[in-house]
Amino acid sequence: MVITMEKVETTITFLGTATCVPDAGHDTSSFIINGRHLVDTGWYSAIKMLNYGISPLDIETVFISHCHHDHYLGLPHILFYLCMKKKERPPIKIVGPASDIARVVGLAKSLLQPERFPDVDPPVEIIPVVPGKSLDVGELHIDTIKTIHPVEGLCYKFTDRRTDISFVYTGDTAYHPPIADFAKGVSLLIHEASHGQNSPNENNRHGHSGAPDAGRIAKIAGVKRLALVHCPLNSIQQAVTVAQSIFPNTFSPEDGETIKL
Ligand SMILES: [Zn+2]
Ligand SMILES: [Zn+2]
Repeated sequence: MVITMEKVETTITFLGTATCVPDAGHDTSSFIINGRHLVDTGWYSAIKMLNYGISPLDIETVFISHCHHDHYLGLPHILFYLCMKKKERPPIKIVGPASDIARVVGLAKSLLQPERFPDVDPPVEIIPVVPGKSLDVGELHIDTIKTIHPVEGLCYKFTDRRTDISFVYTGDTAYHPPIADFAKGVSLLIHEASHGQNSPNENNRHGHSGAPDAGRIAKIAGVKRLALVHCPLNSIQQAVTVAQSIFPNTFSPEDGETIKL
């Protein structure tokens, strides 16, 4: 008898990497872990998944970094897709900041008008998380810390318990040195760079970062690789070059690209 062992890998598939308002064909910062955990929904991640050969039916968990529109707008699409396909499945878990996630999921469900259309009432399990708390979901252990942003945000550290590989996603944040401690030695840091190749000015009331900030955090943390996301597409090359001058192992993921950690 031949027994084939399936190789266990930790993978990330980037659905979108654009800034708040994406250009045609692109989407805002959104990715999938191990083909089954979606992190931020972009504007239309259900369609992006189908574009890249991933079924939204396979998504078990949605992690929302924070409840600004460009990070949750795709949620009603996903819930609608699950209802239309009518596959028997456990409730989809939706993890997000304790301050906002229940309200936003409620609004997403309201948009589907379940009182008028009872078939469009997807079962969900809402998991509110206060920054600093940890939890386990499926094969993932998740640690969180707060971000510097106008709404409550979760910077996530995901550890795949099957492979012991960790990586960090900042969500939206101003330069925040505690993230470097939090991300110490991880395989990958996915850091926002909304300001492209420049750091924001002192005022920075929108609470975002630029490539120099991301590079600094990656360098202090001693991570293996830095991925810049949420960066204006017309300045991504300059942003990568600037970040590489601080932290050489920087790249900008392509939409639809899958990487193995
Ligand atoms: Zn954003
Ligand atoms: Zn934001």
